[in-house]
Amino acid sequence: MKKILILGSTGSIGKNALDIIRNFKEEFSVVGLTVNDNIDLLEEQINEFNPATVVVKNNLKAKELRERIGTRCRILEGEEGLLEITKFEDYDILLSAIVGFAGLKPTIEAIKKGKRIALANKETLVVAGEIIIKLSNQYHSEIIPVDSEHSAIFQCLVGEDKKDINKIILTASGGPFLNKSKEEFVNVTIEEALQHPNWKMGNKITIDSATMMNKGLEVIEAFWLFGLSKDQIDIAIHPQSIIHSMVEFKDGSIKAQLSLPDMKLPILYAFSYPHRLNYSQILTDIKKIGQLTFFEPDFDKFVCLKLAYDVIEEGGTAPCILNAANEMAVEKFLKGKIKFSQIPELIKEALDVVNNHSNATLENIFEADFRTREFINNKFK
Ligand code: NDP
Ligand code: MG
Repeated sequence: MKKILILGSTGSIGKNALDIIRNFKEEFSVVGLTVNDNIDLLEEQINEFNPATVVVKNNLKAKELRERIGTRCRILEGEEGLLEITKFEDYDILLSAIVGFAGLKPTIEAIKKGKRIALANKETLVVAGEIIIKLSNQYHSEIIPVDSEHSAIFQCLVGEDKKDINKIILTASGGPFLNKSKEEFVNVTIEEALQHPNWKMGNKITIDSATMMNKGLEVIEAFWLFGLSKDQIDIAIHPQSIIHSMVEFKDGSIKAQLSLPDMKLPILYAFSYPHRLNYSQILTDIKKIGQLTFFEPDFDKFVCLKLAYDVIEEGGTAPCILNAANEMAVEKFLKGKIKFSQIPELIKEALDVVNNHSNATLENIFEADFRTREFINNKFK
């Protein structure tokens, strides 16, 4: 029985993970759950999964939950609570599924405990990839990607030698605006941007998919996770989202991983690796799929893609500045404060203005995140 701690249990990934655990009661148990402020759903999850400890980031909501459920389980709060649960709870696997930069610190604590990290929170690798990979080697903490593309590549690489890789090909659905012109981006509404054609996900990553920053973040995530050069990371638009990514080897052979788009599969794989469990609910009838198509991404239209490749080149805190600016820009767009077309403009501006620190320490990374948010907030005062 593997004991699982879920950071971000009320999110899209968190709920899918609990669905997996519900179906594999013999294999997995829940020891801890964390949320930002959604205590209604957390209460339901506590009733069903009976965790030893939960964390509510919002202090007032933590108090409210204590009043509701008494001492039925330990309730921690705030950022300290997130660090405490990852440091002291008894677990085998951490599912890191908080959205954004907020996932970084608790994920580091779990790495330092030598735990397996089922990593959904791609921002952790984007902002601090070099440090995270070093720590995971130092503390023998395995990082198993949950992001579907990286899970696909990880699965294609089982039994292979990394030296034999020519390149990896990250597939991208292209999001809801694949066929819109760049000029039309000015008038895109929040509702339109939240309509992803193939995946149902949290709001932040759904907007990232519409700008294609999600693919940009995934390029940086792959760069660290698989230790490749940026030229070895290619992107193919594949609107059907059936092939989740591919690896091309030196001899010209290409391996791919396919399934219907369902995040339960990469979550299950990150939990069960190196084994596979019977899960007929995700079986894919390949004969019903029809055509699979692939084409080049448009870097001129989706500026965020280019910015992501650029910050790999720049290194230091540049990816962290890109990430913080993107989080802020998405938030501003969702609040109706900026247009969709301003998202990449704001990120570019932050990259031009906020100081890049090479050979970045964790301290430099927190500072860069803070400065970037401050810069953008000041613009909207
Ligand atoms: P959601 O927005 O659906 O869920 C986020 C979760 O994190 C919720 O439980 C939320 O709690 C909690 N949370 C939000 N902000 C904070 C904070 N500041 N501090 C502590 N907890 C917080 O996100 P997703 O599930 O879509 O995504 C999670 C991560 O997984 C992201 O990094 C995303 O890029 C990645 N990912 C997601 C995929 C998907 O299919 N959704 C696919 C691949 C990667 P509350 O409910 O209380 O607000
Ligand atoms: Mg993905």
